[in-house]
Amino acid sequence: MANEKSTQTEYDVIVIGSGPGGYVCAIRCAQLGLKTACVEKSKTLGGTCLNVGCIPSKALLHASEKYHEATHELESLGVKTGKVSLDLKTMMKHKDDVVGSNTQGIEFLFKKNKIDWLKGEGSIAEKNTVKVGKDSFKAKHIIIATGSDVASLPNIKIDEKVVVSSTGALTLSSVPKSMVVIGGGVIGLEMGTVWSRLGTKVTVVEYMDKILGTMDGETSKQMQKILTKQGLEFKLSAKVTEVKASAKGATLKVEPAAGGKAETLKADIVLVAVGRKAYTDKLGLDAVGVERDDRGRIKTDSHYKTNIDGIYAIGDVIAGPMLAHKAEDEGVALAETLAGQKPHINYDAIPGVVYTWPEVASVGKTEEELKEAGTEYNVGKFPFTANGRARAMNNTDGFVKILADKTTDRVLGAHIIGPNAGDLIQEVVTMIEIGGSAEDIARTCHAHPTLSEAVKEAALAVDGRPLHI
Ligand code: FAD
Ligand code: NAD
Repeated sequence: MANEKSTQTEYDVIVIGSGPGGYVCAIRCAQLGLKTACVEKSKTLGGTCLNVGCIPSKALLHASEKYHEATHELESLGVKTGKVSLDLKTMMKHKDDVVGSNTQGIEFLFKKNKIDWLKGEGSIAEKNTVKVGKDSFKAKHIIIATGSDVASLPNIKIDEKVVVSSTGALTLSSVPKSMVVIGGGVIGLEMGTVWSRLGTKVTVVEYMDKILGTMDGETSKQMQKILTKQGLEFKLSAKVTEVKASAKGATLKVEPAAGGKAETLKADIVLVAVGRKAYTDKLGLDAVGVERDDRGRIKTDSHYKTNIDGIYAIGDVIAGPMLAHKAEDEGVALAETLAGQKPHINYDAIPGVVYTWPEVASVGKTEEELKEAGTEYNVGKFPFTANGRARAMNNTDGFVKILADKTTDRVLGAHIIGPNAGDLIQEVVTMIEIGGSAEDIARTCHAHPTLSEAVKEAALAVDGRPLHI
C-alpha cells in the first residue's frame, strides 16, 4: 500500500527509525521549523526503548519489587498483608498498558508537531532519497536512527521460548523454576532480578571476573554481594559453550573463561544477555557507500555526519553507550546543528543507571580509569547505613562515592548504590556538566531527611569532613 503522504513531498529532514534518538530528533527538527518525516517499520512508534526495552523492563521491575516488598519487607515495618499471591497475567497487562500509553504518546507528539510518520521499512536509494516500500521521498538531510538488535553467541540459537533474549524475558507466561542468564551486564541483572523476585532460581554466568563490567570496581563488587544476598548466584570468569534446548528446558555446558573442565547446568529458561549490535539491515548503506566500523556501527564525525554529505546517524547505531538518553541528546544536538546552531554534548556527563533494587548509578570516571590516566584524585564515600531517611525506609544497602581532582576539587565521577540512586546521581551529573567541585555540592543546602543528604556527605568526605559518620 502506498504511504498516505504524497511521494512528491520534499522534506528538509527524514529520520529513519522512531526510537528515543529518532523521535526526539524529529520533534526538535519540527520545533526548529524544518519540514520533517520519520520512517518506522514497526506497528508502533518509540523503538526498542518504549516497546521492548527501558519502559516494559521498568514496569516489570517496579511491579516485581512491590511483590517482593509485600512478601519479604512489609512485615518488618509492621504491615501485615495476609497471604500474598502473584497474578502474573495482570502484572504483564500493567506492563503492556504502560507500553501502549507511551507509544501512543509519541504518535500524539508527531501529530502535534506536524511530523509525518512514513510507515514501512526505509532504505536510502541514493543521496537525498529515501525509499519506503514502493514510494520515494526526497530530503535535504537523511538521519539514520535505526538503533540496535540483540546479539547472540555462536552455536546458541535464541528461540524466544526456552532460550530467550530480553524481549522473550519480558513476556514469559509463567514463572520459571530456574533460569540461567548468560551475561552479567545491565540486562542480565535487571531481568534476572525481576524473575528472581517472582520466585525463579537465577544463576548468572559472566565471562569477565566482575559483573557490570564497565562500572567502578568497588561498586561492582558491592553490588554482587547485595544481589547474592537477594538469592542470585554468580559464576564469574566463565563461558557457556553449548546450550541444548528441548520442550522440557535447557542443558548448558559452562567452562572457565580461560578454558578447562566444563560443568553442566540445567534450567527451565536461558536468557542470552551478552550485548546488542548496531542494526543497519536493508538500509542500502553499501550501495550509497556509508562507512561502518569493525563492529558494524555507522562512522560519523563529532557532528553526527557520515562520510556521505547529507546523511547523518545517531543513537545505538553509532559508537558510544547504548542508552536512550544518549540517543535523545544526540537527536537534539543534530537537529540544532542542522538548524545552524552550535550544540555540544559532554560525553563525560552521561549517567548510567541499573534499575535493580537497590539501584546502581554512575557518571564520569571510575577509580580504575583515573588510576590508568595517572590523574590524582580524592575519594569521598558515605554509606546509606548512616543516612536517616534510608534507615526509616529500611533500605540501607549501598553508598555514595564521589571522585574529585586532588588539586582543583573538580568532580570527575560518582558511583552510587542505593535506593533511588538513578535520581540521586543527577545532582552530580549537573555538577560535572558545569565543571563544579565537590565543595560546591558540600556547601549546597540539602533537605532533611532525604536520601540526597548522602550525596552531600560524600562530597564533605572528599575533604575529610563528613558530619554524620
Ligand atoms: P531504537 O530504540 O533501537 O530504535 C530504532 C527504531 O528504528 C526501531 O523502532 C526500529 O523498528 C526502527 N528501524 C530500524 N530499521 C528501520 C528501517 N530500515 N526502516 C524503518 N524503521 C527502522 N536505555 C536506557 O537509557 N535506560 C534503560 O532503562 C534501558 N533499558 C533497556 C532495557 C532493555 C531490555 C533493552 C533491550 C534496552 C534498554 N535500554 C535502556 C537501551 C535503549 O533501549 C536504547 O539505547 C535506545 O532504545 C536506543 O535508541 P535508538 O533511537 O538509537 O534506537
Ligand atoms: P552489556 O554489555 O551490559 O552486558 C553483557 C555482558 O555479557 C558483559 O558483562 C559481557 O562480559 C558478558 N558476556 C559477553 N559474552 C559472554 C559469554 N560468552 N559468556 C558469558 N558472558 C558474556 O549488554 P546487555 O546487558 O545485553 O545490554 C545491552 C545494552 O542495552 C547495553 O549497552 C546497555 O547499556 C543497554 N541497556 C541499558 C539499560 C539501562 O540503562 N538500565 C538496561 C538494559 C539495557
